[in-house]
Amino acid sequence: MKPAFHVIPEPERTQFGDTMVPLTAAWALTCETPLAASLVDDYCAVLRLPRLRHGRPPDGPRFRLVSADMAAEAYRLAVSPAGGMVSANSEAGFRWALETLRQLRTTDGLPACSIDDAPHLPMRGFHVFLHRQMDFAALNRLLESAARFKLNTVVLEYESRFPYRRHPTVAGADALSHGQVEALTQHAWSLGLEPIALQQSLGHLDYLLARDAYAGRREEDQVRDQMCPLNPDSFALFTELAEDMLALHPGSRFLHVGGDETRHLGACARCQARAAEVGLAGLYGEYMAKVLGWVIRAGLRPIIWDDMLCAHPEALASVPRQTAIMYWDYWTVADPSPYLVARFDRHGRAAIVHDKCWGEEWPLGELTEAQRAVLAHFSAGVPLAEDLGTRFLDRYGAYLGPDFPRRLRAFPYLEYYQDQGFDVIMGPTAMGNHEMPDGLPHFARFYHNVHASATRARQNGRTLGMVTTTWYSFPPEMLVQGLVTTGQFAWSRR
Ligand SMILES: [Zn+2]
Repeated sequence: MKPAFHVIPEPERTQFGDTMVPLTAAWALTCETPLAASLVDDYCAVLRLPRLRHGRPPDGPRFRLVSADMAAEAYRLAVSPAGGMVSANSEAGFRWALETLRQLRTTDGLPACSIDDAPHLPMRGFHVFLHRQMDFAALNRLLESAARFKLNTVVLEYESRFPYRRHPTVAGADALSHGQVEALTQHAWSLGLEPIALQQSLGHLDYLLARDAYAGRREEDQVRDQMCPLNPDSFALFTELAEDMLALHPGSRFLHVGGDETRHLGACARCQARAAEVGLAGLYGEYMAKVLGWVIRAGLRPIIWDDMLCAHPEALASVPRQTAIMYWDYWTVADPSPYLVARFDRHGRAAIVHDKCWGEEWPLGELTEAQRAVLAHFSAGVPLAEDLGTRFLDRYGAYLGPDFPRRLRAFPYLEYYQDQGFDVIMGPTAMGNHEMPDGLPHFARFYHNVHASATRARQNGRTLGMVTTTWYSFPPEMLVQGLVTTGQFAWSRR
């Protein structure tokens, strides 16, 4: 029986012959391009072939690595009893061909095959939140798994597990050492992954602001997770934390400055007075402009979460256009979608909403199981157009698609951000929002969320790509399914 071969992520074109090609002792590998030089040893190890060097007679079949004019990260692979060949135009192309060979190699050799392959999204990433169950060894394993499924980006969110030099008291007892972070980022680069550090710049700084030494920077004294944007010490602190982090991430093109869920904007007396003049949008925009400008002057492109900008779109005027917006939406599972993540409604509140006709005039049976689960757990049925209000619809109405209010374009803010002049990175989740059917995270929702996000990015054709997020403290093995899903849908046309 013809053996079945599966390569994940699925290549663009595959053709398998009927025979296996045993890579016998007569075979040898030749590297005929410097583009593959760094990977030759790995090729020899995966194929279990010796490397044929110049001067030796080419007697048996050869497995050749050659350069060819093709797209970035693309590769071509051909294997027959007469020989094998990988062609590519970049080190990355040779790397992804190697990962394909790793999946095809059996004890009997390689299947006769011809494969043409290239990714559909340029940035294919995974966000790792260094929760307490993620130790150094597990982190390294996760990077290796990411590379195996042809991801090329990892966003590292350390929080108190980063060994800040100028703020050593922030680092928790389980913080990585200086040497471990260096080793981690070097390991990422060696696997073809660009490590991008995430340093929050305003909110989600509870690991720091809970400490008395940082009390003066708090915006409020209850939740203690947000700095006051008008306190000059806040911006100075961000730059010190970010400088420490960038020092251990040499070569990265980006710094993620967070900026999401700063729900206490305008809480302190000074911010309240400023907000009366320029609005919360002005308060947020003025501070983030300083943060983003600092990153740009440091020679990097900043990345920012989209939710506060979406809720206060007037702030976009202050945001430098070199900034990449990471658009996170963990609930949308298909395009079009019956519900919308509205960053503000007519009352100014953020909400997940659908038209109340669903379940009444419009049968729920029209929806997928994953969509019905979101309606049941997260979304509120409202008179949609009325509830969103004119301020929302004037801004975003043109992006909601022709079937509004029954169905909406999935991830509708994507083109809005692009029309405002920004590059966008899509940000679905593989572990987000507490909902535990059968006592497990809702893996089915994550699967469809990643799939829908990648499909929208591919159809849009102008995004930087996609980075799947992961949150909370679970055993690291629980992230692997999301990582494989991300690899499959960010790379393939499925
Ligand atoms: Zn303040």
